[in-house]
Amino acid sequence: MNEPHDSTEFDIDEGFGARLTIDLQALVDNWRKMRALSSPARCAAVIKADGYGLGAEPVATSLYGAGCRDFFVATAREGAFVRQHAPDARIYVMNCILPGIEETCRVAELVPVLASMEHVALWTQACIANGEHPCALQVDTGMNRLGLSTGEAMALADDVTRPQGFSPVLIMSHLACADEPEHPLNGQQLEAFQNVVAAFDGIEASLCNSAGVMLGGDYLFDLARPGIALFGGAVGDHVRPVTQPVVTAEARIITVREAKHGETVSYGGTMTLRRDSRIAVCSIGYADGYMRSLSGTGVTLRGHHPEGGHGFAHGQKLPILGRVTMDMTAFDITDLADGSLKSGDFIELFGPNVALDDVAATAGTIGYELLTLLGRRYRRHYLPARTDG
Ligand SMILES: *Cc1c(COP(=O)(O)O)cnc(C)c1O
Repeated sequence: MNEPHDSTEFDIDEGFGARLTIDLQALVDNWRKMRALSSPARCAAVIKADGYGLGAEPVATSLYGAGCRDFFVATAREGAFVRQHAPDARIYVMNCILPGIEETCRVAELVPVLASMEHVALWTQACIANGEHPCALQVDTGMNRLGLSTGEAMALADDVTRPQGFSPVLIMSHLACADEPEHPLNGQQLEAFQNVVAAFDGIEASLCNSAGVMLGGDYLFDLARPGIALFGGAVGDHVRPVTQPVVTAEARIITVREAKHGETVSYGGTMTLRRDSRIAVCSIGYADGYMRSLSGTGVTLRGHHPEGGHGFAHGQKLPILGRVTMDMTAFDITDLADGSLKSGDFIELFGPNVALDDVAATAGTIGYELLTLLGRRYRRHYLPARTDG
């Protein structure tokens, strides 16, 4: 007898077009690798933008489980979320929007990273009114983004009238060119930062992002702040990835079709087939962060990669044919044996066989952008980290 259909049986996760497999053990291993490279400094984790697009909760939980006790996020809102998964960690809020975040910082015990003299004044007032609460101080040494000037920082360090309640627990700065080890700005920023750190004697200091950690030595100070390397991204054009891939993105095939030599594929008819072809049309597009600039043809401004992006299956690179569209992308599977891919099968977009940074470079961007643009349509599968430490 047929049962009436029970709508609670719908699995909202079924019928997905693409999936992400996120290897939390690889994430933990990457953090341990960065921690070793940062030694003797401690190693934090930068998990802003929803853990670089991979999920702030599983990322924070795994790294906390591995022993990480210093986290950096962008907004106080992100910080309050991470607090739920990292009970006694120190959580720094880098985009310090004052006035406004005082209460959130107190309630969620977040450390605001003050980025201007105005912030210092506002935070000091809040501490006089409500009691002492730790803060961090950002000093601009050459990036011209956030931070007190070195002059302002030195004056503040020497200011004997500085209120008792003002208690920075970290002095930090950010390198503009850490991914170019030979760039002269690195040395200039290091020297400027060393002077400020000396003036704030006894307070911990932090300068390095992932690429900065690779500069090593004097750059390390007390606390390193890697982000991208934890997620398997390369730390710059000139440095090989030092960590392993964490994410595999795969798209499902909607249909496989045959097309003739001389026909065109996708919008604009910009790709003319040079042979009779078999095409896998996949459920992935720019709405999923698989950027239109990866198109095989028909987009301008790509520079070094005129040939466009590719997917991967059965040991073969599968070039993108024509333009990537909002929800669909066509891959050339002519070189695979007939029948080896069918509707519902997967094509790897990036992961162990297609480097995240190569895909990003083809799209004219960096791995950071590719990760943080991953859309909400993927079915996400997290491979757990081992709990044995
Ligand atoms: C994002 C960020 C980091 C981490 O940078 P990665 O290049 O991802 O390692 C470190 N410090 C600051 C100030 C940042 O904004």
